[in-house]
Amino acid sequence: MRIARYTLGEDPTYGIVQGERGEEWIAEIQGDPLYQPIVFTGNRVLLAEARLLAPVIPRSKVIGIGKNYAEHAAEMGGEAPKEPLMFLKPNTAVVGPGDPVVMPRQSKEVHYEGELAVVISRMCKDVPIEKISDVIFGYTCANDVTARDLQRSDGQWSRAKGFDSFCPLGPWIETDLDTGDLAILTRRDGEVVQDGRTADMIHTVAALVTYVSQVFTLLPGDVILTGTPAGVGPVTAGQRVEVEIEGIGVLSNPFIRRD
Ligand code: MG
Repeated sequence: MRIARYTLGEDPTYGIVQGERGEEWIAEIQGDPLYQPIVFTGNRVLLAEARLLAPVIPRSKVIGIGKNYAEHAAEMGGEAPKEPLMFLKPNTAVVGPGDPVVMPRQSKEVHYEGELAVVISRMCKDVPIEKISDVIFGYTCANDVTARDLQRSDGQWSRAKGFDSFCPLGPWIETDLDTGDLAILTRRDGEVVQDGRTADMIHTVAALVTYVSQVFTLLPGDVILTGTPAGVGPVTAGQRVEVEIEGIGVLSNPFIRRD
């Protein structure tokens, strides 16, 4: 099931995306599906006529995982850490499909990082690995946008990864997905710049959720970014970056500068 959050010009609403690619429609549902069962209202709209929004606004946090693909760790100039390397992005960094990523004046080197994102369904802590499916609501595409120069100069990553608009999520949440071996592609102005597979993650989705839940209480709507494959690189203002994950869809965002 593909759960979208969208607007027709007024308040955000949720719906289930149905139909084949290019001909999808959205069947509206009541309320927020994180907190109530799926009940259709009977209203429908063509996907092309709706404006998709970030499919979830994390209630408390986005947890990022650094260097979870060996080839990416190598391109960053080191080995992958033995244990998952965690960082936080504020929920104010989240934007939706099509929303501009605003490149801040403090950085001259803004990079894309295409990633699989996990959306948490319920409050949980210390989740055993065999119970992981009980706490996962679904999956979406993410761009873990990073000011690479500030990441280097600051030594820790809050500023480099935390700017407003540095966490595009979307286009919707896929609730039924085996994440064991999915193609994950990033395109910059149409050119494929990352071409990875989730099978190459060092720590699996289940292992990451368990590990993260041993540190933080996770709340419904919290998001875990699972790391980026090799091929990260810079974006210049005016370019568009797409993150496509097999079985989910395409997240596309323009990058702009306002100064
Ligand atoms: Mg990342």
